[in-house]
Amino acid sequence: MLLIEEFMDNCYELSGDITENNLKALIEYIDDNFERIDDPLLSDFVVRKKLEEFRDYIVSAEKLPTQRVLNRLSQVRGMVERFKYNYLTYKIECLDGYNPLDVAIKYAKGVGPSRERLLRKLGIETINDLINYFPRDYEDRRKIIPLMYLRENEKVTTKGIIKSVEKTRKDNLVIISALLQDGISQVLLKWFNQEFRELEIKQLIGREVYVTGTTKRGFFGAMEIQNPEVSISDTPERTILPIYPLTENLSQKVIRKIVSDNIGSACNLREVIPQEVLEERKLVDIHTAYAGMHFPKSVFHQKISRRRLAYEELLLFQIALFLSKANIQQIGGIAKEFTGELSKKFISQLPFKLTNAQVRAHVEIQNDLKSQNPMNRLLQGDVGSGKTLVAELAIVDNYEAGYQSAFMVPTSILAMQHFQKVFTHLTNLGIRVALLIGSTSQREKERIKFGLKNGDIDVVIGTHALIQEDVHFANLGLVIIDEQHRFGVKQREELISKGKVVDTLIMTATPIPRTLSLTLYGDLDVSVIDEMPPGRKEIKTFTMRHTRAKDVYKFVREQVTENGDQAYIVYPLIEQSDAINAKAAEEMYRMLTKDIFADIPTGLIHGRMSDDEKNEVMVKFASGELKILISTSVIEVGVDVPNATIMVIENAERFGLAQLHQLRGRVGRGEKQSYCFLIVSEAGEEAWDRLQFFASTNDGFKISEYDLKLRGPGEFFGTRQHGLPEFRVADIISDTELMLLAREDAKRIVENYSDSDIISKVFELYRDRIKFLDVG
Ligand code: ADP
Ligand code: MG
Repeated sequence: MLLIEEFMDNCYELSGDITENNLKALIEYIDDNFERIDDPLLSDFVVRKKLEEFRDYIVSAEKLPTQRVLNRLSQVRGMVERFKYNYLTYKIECLDGYNPLDVAIKYAKGVGPSRERLLRKLGIETINDLINYFPRDYEDRRKIIPLMYLRENEKVTTKGIIKSVEKTRKDNLVIISALLQDGISQVLLKWFNQEFRELEIKQLIGREVYVTGTTKRGFFGAMEIQNPEVSISDTPERTILPIYPLTENLSQKVIRKIVSDNIGSACNLREVIPQEVLEERKLVDIHTAYAGMHFPKSVFHQKISRRRLAYEELLLFQIALFLSKANIQQIGGIAKEFTGELSKKFISQLPFKLTNAQVRAHVEIQNDLKSQNPMNRLLQGDVGSGKTLVAELAIVDNYEAGYQSAFMVPTSILAMQHFQKVFTHLTNLGIRVALLIGSTSQREKERIKFGLKNGDIDVVIGTHALIQEDVHFANLGLVIIDEQHRFGVKQREELISKGKVVDTLIMTATPIPRTLSLTLYGDLDVSVIDEMPPGRKEIKTFTMRHTRAKDVYKFVREQVTENGDQAYIVYPLIEQSDAINAKAAEEMYRMLTKDIFADIPTGLIHGRMSDDEKNEVMVKFASGELKILISTSVIEVGVDVPNATIMVIENAERFGLAQLHQLRGRVGRGEKQSYCFLIVSEAGEEAWDRLQFFASTNDGFKISEYDLKLRGPGEFFGTRQHGLPEFRVADIISDTELMLLAREDAKRIVENYSDSDIISKVFELYRDRIKFLDVG
């Protein structure tokens, strides 16, 4: 049983190198397999005829002189492609009388009040939403594989009769299994943690059904299909059916019918990609693409449709980034004048030498400051790579040029710590530094605001307070934002808008794959600190079950009393409530200080304490007065105490890897050997694997790549990430190649098609993003 597209793809493969032998192999393949082609499309006279022509063209080459044989062979690939585009795809048929796109869903064909309610539950408010409601998968019924021919690890559709259903439990899993038989063989269908399936499948006992899913070997070697889709065999056979994400009381059958009745409205979509680009990038037109997303004629059709729509999304987004960047440059910045003597002096006073990467980043920043265009730079570097120092250098240069700086960080602990560092470093250069956080007293706030407004203060370091309070600057020239992913684009823009023309430096310790950074920061220039200060040792990381926590505490005790080291013990977010998390840390604090750490100065810090209290504890820990710090994840970001060498993380399975990496980055900041212990309470196999992976590497880039794949970008960045566009089709992690194409094309399109539909569509979608930067 062979589908036309499989046959064609095989011919394509066999005609790679143009040699006589290959032609022989190809002809042999065609002779052996042509009769095996069994495809619903064969009933189409034209398709059958074209297919035969294709066969005859190749097979008859056998008798020709060599040169002509090779000539023919070199045509094959082109013929296959043309055949696929011409006969394995189709366009939506555009007749009159389809609803415009903005019509409310209740006026769609086949939709009454109750279906309207269900569709709205899915976020479908208009016809446009409906035709953009894409399937999450497909059921390929062109090829029904009999049960006895199922092979392992393949996505298949098969057919049989449901004989029985049963529910079992194993550990935390509820398993629904059903027996599927045809006259000859049988397999088990299995669903994990989908209890509702029991009832659903019971109703199908005795009926013939189609089953689509991936085959697996179960225990005892029997074939299973896990978490399959099941549907009754009363829809037209032998097509590719879409499987939509659904809500209760709405069946695949019903939504397929609604989409199919209304898909004609897609004719009202305008083609925004210029014809020339479509051709060059081998992209199908928009009407072929919508047909192929919902009711593809072939797998090929579905794939090129997805590709086209993903490309379009990425292209629109890249154009938006390009426009906003062009906007910034148009505004023009201030070419700052400074000699760099002051930052040289600062560097000469440091107890260490800058790393080459730091020097490079500093030079790039200096050039930006001096340039006519405003700086928009991302400073990327793993935790502990010395970004803060580079930020200080930028502040010094900016000061020398006669401008104020604002440095915004996500937590008050971090603000206080940065303040202490910057204050000690810069005061003796004559730079006046202030700290502004939520808990700063009202009088102090007034004093600082006054100082910033009349120019008596040169640098302000703070939290969100910098934008929440009514702060004005005499001449703000530089904005630095630390741990950018914790802020939204809006907040960054708000701070920037406090100056007339501001240079911006954004710092992040979350190393991300290139595609993603092009998405998030495509409108920024990037400096990477890819080198750690010398003498750092790899942090040794261990994962262990909580039953062995005592051994870890004992180790902490030894290191602290015998080596003079310091340690963190961190408790995770147990709930989204600071109160409960604080309590867990408090309890542990009480327990440990009564017992194993009774004679060791131990501190406690959590989000429920006031800023002053937090600061007092941090200062004591930094000075070495406290040896052990028990904490919630408030210390996750940026905290810098180089003498701390042990990081113990309790309930480590509750943290994401990026977060664990941040926490681990609190140690290993000096020259001593550092350790990180992940104490695991309840972890399934998957969580355990994840932690083992984490323990195996200190490379933040590898870790975030792994984490991103596992959790997807939304989870990975957390809800606070606003800069991430939401794509319906494109996948910002796996569509790297398309993203790069789109980026390449964006520039050209802006230049050549400045008044076209595509630019107006970009503005429709991304007006905010572009306008924001317009304000600059
Ligand atoms: P990041 O912000 O990138 O996580 P920090 O700027 O906090 O890193 O630097 C981590 C530690 O390394 C700090 O204690 C800092 O003083 C120190 N440090 C920075 N640059 C160097 C260098 N070139 N050589 C040695 N130590 C450095
Ligand atoms: Mg930092």
